[in-house]
Amino acid sequence: MAGIKRKADMEIPITDENDILRVTCLGGGQEVGRSSILLEYKGKTILLDAGIHPAYNGLASLPFFDEMDPASIDVLLVTHFHVDHAASVPYIMERTTFKGRVFMTHPTKAIYKWLLSDYLRVSNIGDEDQLYSEEDLLNSFQRIEAIDYHQQVEVEGIKFTGYNAGHVLGAAMFLIEIAGVKILYTGDYSREEDRHLMAAEKPEGAVDVLITESTYGVQSHEPRLAKETRFTSLIHDIVGRGGRCLMPVFALGRAQELLLILDEYWEAHPELDSIPIYYASSLAKRCMAVYQTYINMMNARIRKQFAISNPFVFKHISNLKNVEQFEDSGPCVMMASPGMLQNGLSRELFERWAPDKKNGLVITGYCVENTLARQAMNEPSEFQAMDGRKVPLKMSVDYISFSAHVDFTQNSQFIDDVKAPHVILVHGEANAMYRLKSALQSKYSEREENITIYTPKNCDTVRLHFRGEKMAKTIGRLAAKYPTENQPLNGVLVVKDFQLNIMSPEDLNELGGLITTVITQRQVVPFNAGIGLLKWHLEMMFGAISETELAEGDGAGNQQGTVLRVFDTIDVKKLISGPNQVILEWVGNAMNDMVADSVLAVILSIDSSPASVKASSQACSHSHGSSNEKVDKAEDIKSEFLDIASFLEAQFGDVELDEDDNKITINMDGVTAVVDTMKFAAESDNEAFKKRVTEIMERVKMAIKPVSDIYEIAL
Ligand code: ZN
Ligand code: ZN
Repeated sequence: MAGIKRKADMEIPITDENDILRVTCLGGGQEVGRSSILLEYKGKTILLDAGIHPAYNGLASLPFFDEMDPASIDVLLVTHFHVDHAASVPYIMERTTFKGRVFMTHPTKAIYKWLLSDYLRVSNIGDEDQLYSEEDLLNSFQRIEAIDYHQQVEVEGIKFTGYNAGHVLGAAMFLIEIAGVKILYTGDYSREEDRHLMAAEKPEGAVDVLITESTYGVQSHEPRLAKETRFTSLIHDIVGRGGRCLMPVFALGRAQELLLILDEYWEAHPELDSIPIYYASSLAKRCMAVYQTYINMMNARIRKQFAISNPFVFKHISNLKNVEQFEDSGPCVMMASPGMLQNGLSRELFERWAPDKKNGLVITGYCVENTLARQAMNEPSEFQAMDGRKVPLKMSVDYISFSAHVDFTQNSQFIDDVKAPHVILVHGEANAMYRLKSALQSKYSEREENITIYTPKNCDTVRLHFRGEKMAKTIGRLAAKYPTENQPLNGVLVVKDFQLNIMSPEDLNELGGLITTVITQRQVVPFNAGIGLLKWHLEMMFGAISETELAEGDGAGNQQGTVLRVFDTIDVKKLISGPNQVILEWVGNAMNDMVADSVLAVILSIDSSPASVKASSQACSHSHGSSNEKVDKAEDIKSEFLDIASFLEAQFGDVELDEDDNKITINMDGVTAVVDTMKFAAESDNEAFKKRVTEIMERVKMAIKPVSDIYEIAL
């Protein structure tokens, strides 16, 4: 279809709620954590991500799911496996009325199961406060549908495609199309190729609404090489002074990148050979298998390296399954999850190592507000341990961001490239978001570009009005001929998945996906007059009527009679034997039913017209048994006179009967004609009218004879 013309305008008074695209942040609105965005348009509902807030536990960590009806969601799309995007998926799938379909990429699905199982294990709350059980997680896993990048999926008219978002293995942005309106949701994304992942791609084509992360606001990333050098020399310093270096990391994602950097550095510095690097994650081994499986999703460098040796088999790094295995006996580098020191091993070691100033904490990822890692960045003199004790903080604290989110330059470049007239910022703290918004706004106002930036809070809804021009296309046999101007088009309008198609009813089955049935309607109407009179009346109303005789054995009840066909669709059947009635038969549809109604009206009017009544009652009382031929003859004449009167009345309305002289006077629009029914002749001062009446009388004459004949037979 040629593109739907769309225009979103907040100023236009809004009349149809159906034309409003509603975007509601249930989580991730002016915050980082518990990402979950609800899209509603044209009766379709899509949920983008369902995360938890890492700073909270239990129900408090959920997005504001109470603000919507989970049963109304058609599709849930999950961008990547991080807990702030995926950890409430099992909850919504197994603990609410949700009955939609869930999609994520293959690697996201594979890691989802391990990562969330780990999340359940390490969260330090009782079983009864858990959002879901291990069993819920497994059940949800079975129902999740895995997709590839660039694979277009269509569900109930909602089309979507996942694109490589960089960030972590399997991370996707989603381009969603509902009724011609296109929405791009970036999820978390990075535009920088790193050691193992490719940079995010930009989907082709116009986008109406861009929903983008804004984690780093207007900050700029340190150049990659400088950052890596700063990172490796910092770690070298800590272990060099005899300290233990703690790096809290997300179990997966950036950790792989840091391991690649450290392994390379240790290889280049033999003097560090005796210092162990631990990667403490029970998931590490299992997830490494996933990384190896999806090596084709990574960048050229890692693929090339893989051809020589497996880049995920590290020479200088040992996996540590649990803390019992760990011999804490001197300088070391320890990468441990979780990434924000909420609980688990990273927290335990932090509490143990914090009082010694030789040790160092290196924070490499984005830390969400209200987490201990975020507090530690402000270097307080002490902090609260999990058991409530106060612990002095003497170890060094450094922050080198390796988190794979876009910075200001990359994000604003991407926003420029996408060129959507509406940009909704999510996944950013209020301050970062406002700064980004005003930086973008001043850029666009300088360029006189009309781009609106929205920064909705949680539970706030951005309402965008899209008015699509309604356009229907003809398909199937209707489209076989090129249309010409003023040529009427008959067909059925089929609305499916926001598309309007006009098609021939015969194509409904095949093209419309609809089942067609044919209903034959039959109606029996009492009728006392003859078939000739009936035909006359019908011809007056409908023009030429075809007439067929039913012979015995013809089907149709195997009886003799006559069938008059009106408009080639309605059969009016009169049987010779049987009661005084006619039978109407037609194939039921709106058009035919209407014609049948008017045929019925004509038939009923014949019976009630005074002339007809007289004609038929005369005919019926007509007696052949009479010996008085003169009376018979007189009755015949009278009957014929009344028949003619009935015809003329049907044609002209106003008639005066003069039975004694066998004359009928017709008045129409001030002109008068007198008909002699014996001679079938007409007289009038008006030549044109006379001609018309004479022609009618000719037809009456034709009709009258069979009428009399049938009366004879019928009697
Ligand atoms: Zn992420
Ligand atoms: Zn995130």
